[in-house]
Amino acid sequence: MPPRPQPQPRAVRREGQHSARSLLAAAVLIPLACAYPLLERQFQDSEPARDNGELAQLSASTIELAAQFVPLQAVFGYDAQPVEAPPVAEPPPPPPPPTPEQITALLDDAAATLVDLEIKIDPRRRARGPLPAGSGLQQAHDEARALVLEGRFEQIRQWMALAQFGSREPGPHCGFSPLSRYDLVVTRTAKAAKGGAKDLAYLHIVVPAQGLPGPGQRGTHEAWIGDERWVNLADSLDPSRDYVPFKTNGNESLSRQWAQANVVAGLVNIANEYHQHTGMLLGIGDLSHVTGGKIGDHWTHQKGVDVDVYLLDHDHVSTDGRPQVWWNHIKRGVSIWTAEPKGKGAREPVADPADEHSRTPTSTRLEVLANIVLPIDDIAYFVHNDSSVLDPFDAQAGARRPGRRFLHAQNRGFWPAHADHVHLRWVAGELPVGVAPRP
Ligand SMILES: [Zn+2]
Repeated sequence: MPPRPQPQPRAVRREGQHSARSLLAAAVLIPLACAYPLLERQFQDSEPARDNGELAQLSASTIELAAQFVPLQAVFGYDAQPVEAPPVAEPPPPPPPPTPEQITALLDDAAATLVDLEIKIDPRRRARGPLPAGSGLQQAHDEARALVLEGRFEQIRQWMALAQFGSREPGPHCGFSPLSRYDLVVTRTAKAAKGGAKDLAYLHIVVPAQGLPGPGQRGTHEAWIGDERWVNLADSLDPSRDYVPFKTNGNESLSRQWAQANVVAGLVNIANEYHQHTGMLLGIGDLSHVTGGKIGDHWTHQKGVDVDVYLLDHDHVSTDGRPQVWWNHIKRGVSIWTAEPKGKGAREPVADPADEHSRTPTSTRLEVLANIVLPIDDIAYFVHNDSSVLDPFDAQAGARRPGRRFLHAQNRGFWPAHADHVHLRWVAGELPVGVAPRP
């Protein structure tokens, strides 16, 4: 007897379903390239789901949750139906840690990749330079899982950029190098060299104890300035999705986005909140070099505590496709925003044409940002030219934490004018009070 045709569930098709799905896939896959630590954390946080339908196998948190709603007796009652957990693909079990032979082979691969990247220095297989307690480097070298390169600051910056992003000067793009699957750790002493000696730094290339992460994923990338841990912004946020690496002069680069770990964590929250409130991506310029120290275009930005932020106008795009930057000037006591650095170009229209003190789209965004930053007392200085927006914030900031300042054209002390971007400075400890502010 031929099988009876079974009623089939009707396929629900909507227009644009496929493109929506591929968009979704892209949205899931693209961040994988850059924001891998977020993903990794999510994997670690979620218990492996089991779908064999047995209550005993449900996670403790699920049972706890269920207990809040029904007496446990009812759940475990003998006529209770087995509860089926929704089917979730089980992640493959982690591979066993690499053997000493495999580790040696991986380090040989790394050394060969250094040659491919034209890093013409023989890596050492024995520890060199500082090995900060929190870095795990001592153990990695003890277990023969690490190579180390020694060089001047400038060299180490370039080598780290090559290892991390596959390019000596990555610009705003998050590239990929085979070495980025290794843990990459830059170290240097906290103090600069004395008496004309060269400032040396070290780049350690480490096979993680559990082996390299899968293709497309990356290892842990960090820097230790003395005992201070620094990270790169592009390892916490996706530069093509969560923020725009940007400098007005076009010299933005992910390799200049290193800072103390707490600074980057704070900046991640600020960028996300700004996006939620404005629907626009925050432009983020220079933080610091991976080694810290002198950096072009700035007096500051040497210690991993300074961040330049741009309130970009994504609705107005320049001829080169970059978002518009508005410059703020105070003219006869009135705050104006213009498209030209010298203030002679087209003005940004005010929301209320009858009121010259009225907000513009950019000054509104500046106010949004100031409101986001105000509760963050670790940020000691918020610097931007527009006094009409920032003046009310200055007193509030000082009331929250003595010496904390929102600086603008009229109260900036020794700080330089900031017409096209906001400068944020994190400072720990006590702040000077009642003196002219200086960077
Ligand atoms: Zn700055």
